[in-house]
Amino acid sequence: MSVAEPIGHEVLVEVRASGLCHSDISVAQTGMGGDWPMVLGHEIAGVVVAVGPSASRIKVGDHVVAAALRPCGQCRACLKGAVWACSQPDALDRGPDEKPRLEDEHGAIGQMTGLGGFAEKVLVHENQLVSIDPAMPFEQASIIGCAVATGGGVVLNVAKVQPGESIAVFGCGGVGLNAIQVAALAGATRIIGVDIQTDKLELAQKFGATDVIDSTKVDAVEAIQKLTESEGVDHAFVMVGVPQVTQTALQILGQSGTVYLVGGMSPGAEVHLHPSPGDSLLLPFQQGIRGTWLGSSNFYHDIPMYVDLYLQGRLNLDDLVSQTISIDDIDKAYEELERGGIARSVITFPAQS
Ligand SMILES: [Zn+2]
Ligand SMILES: [Zn+2]
Repeated sequence: MSVAEPIGHEVLVEVRASGLCHSDISVAQTGMGGDWPMVLGHEIAGVVVAVGPSASRIKVGDHVVAAALRPCGQCRACLKGAVWACSQPDALDRGPDEKPRLEDEHGAIGQMTGLGGFAEKVLVHENQLVSIDPAMPFEQASIIGCAVATGGGVVLNVAKVQPGESIAVFGCGGVGLNAIQVAALAGATRIIGVDIQTDKLELAQKFGATDVIDSTKVDAVEAIQKLTESEGVDHAFVMVGVPQVTQTALQILGQSGTVYLVGGMSPGAEVHLHPSPGDSLLLPFQQGIRGTWLGSSNFYHDIPMYVDLYLQGRLNLDDLVSQTISIDDIDKAYEELERGGIARSVITFPAQS
């Protein structure tokens, strides 16, 4: 496979760390998400080794983190800072008459979310990159663009959690643990982690959960009502794409509480609402249910913020990188991720230059 030279605003990044995420499996299984065949991987940190003639924000030698978003920078959403809602992400692609960025003897090869991070080098549009403090280690930096930006972003940008508020997090994997630790930073005083795995609940406590619930052992609705003295929580984050968990979350909301759907749902998934005032508190308590996407992160702002918090010792990313592996071990690491036993594996690549 060959990688083209950067043109226009493109940047060639020597990848130093690339995180494994469940989304790569979803894309592989569904065949969605771009042009196949495709290089997967979308959590990248590395060093810039070449830039196209029009690149202006990113320079050779910069340490960069990539975001799994492709903001054009020109549309109404982008101009408002809502880069996750860009209306023309394909504007970052090469044109049909241009040589593909990646190709082999059979033709062009796609890049998941414009990145394709399971590779030693990636050629990306500079709009997908943020330069970071070179003091930041690559392994920890790589996971910021997805798991941290999503979990932290849904707490800060979407729910706007305030000091003294209460939250429940359903699913304490990479995204859930970040929601927990960022909610703790934001001053939430009751942070309830719910999961079906003991090791994840132990991590949840380490990341700042004030209470944890093993929903295989106790009824989560009863347990949360008891913890909150029947007041319910202000914010419930559903990190797992399971409709039944969403139903549970709707039952533990307090006055003006909101359920946030974070984890992807399977095609055809249904969630049932019971809006009658006789059946639920949805209307009388003015509760809500809200979809979210990548934590509504304006990553140009949020990624450097998470880097600062890590370097100040206030954001725990070390325990999120449960192991570093060689790219040759990727299949084994994905089997482990599917079993749900570990928080995160990160592929590391030696420096080439
Ligand atoms: Zn991801
Ligand atoms: Zn745009």
